[in-house]
Amino acid sequence: MANLLIVGPPGAGKGTQAARLAAALRVPAVSTGDIFRQNIKEQTELGKRVTAILDAGEYVPDELTNELVDDRLAQPDAERGYLLDGYPRTAGQVEYLDGVNLRRGEQLDAVVRLIADTDEVVRRLSARALEQGRSDDTEEVIRHRLDVYERETAPLIAIFEERGLVVEVDGIGAVDEVTERILAGLAARGIEA
Ligand code: AMP
Repeated sequence: MANLLIVGPPGAGKGTQAARLAAALRVPAVSTGDIFRQNIKEQTELGKRVTAILDAGEYVPDELTNELVDDRLAQPDAERGYLLDGYPRTAGQVEYLDGVNLRRGEQLDAVVRLIADTDEVVRRLSARALEQGRSDDTEEVIRHRLDVYERETAPLIAIFEERGLVVEVDGIGAVDEVTERILAGLAARGIEA
């Protein structure tokens, strides 16, 4: 049983690490970005509403994003906990998640903060643009997404720091090495894989 977040700038390796951690801890990795991209690919109503927003690197409105997360966390596989990647990203989302946890009779157990400097994340995101052709991985949109992250989301980390939940991990290094660092940081807080 563990309710976790993984936070850090776009390109810090959250998605990769989230998948590995989720498997190790046997909870689902829930990425709001992945859910939006899936809906865009399938051209659902939600997908149509958010295409232009993702392409511009802006944030989807809180009401839409919150509802999506609420539905996802109500699925049976999230009964034992969850690992959220890319959510919450605004103060409104933090408050909403607090409400979800309260209803579940639970709380957040830890927030994994991946640290990576800007040059490194721009380099990684540009490489991913070539590999995956994500429409929001052009240089201009990458820089904008980083700006939005710094302005809107980075300040929220202070809230989790005040609650004593943050596990800081250096996100630079081999994928396995970073996973080991995260698992060690969580184990030190009593969250065992
Ligand atoms: P990500 O894959 O987490 O980098 O998310 C890709 C894009 O999806 C973001 O640039 C936003 O447009 C949108 N998105 C993902 N998660 C959120 C969120 N929690 N709040 C608002 N927009 C989001």
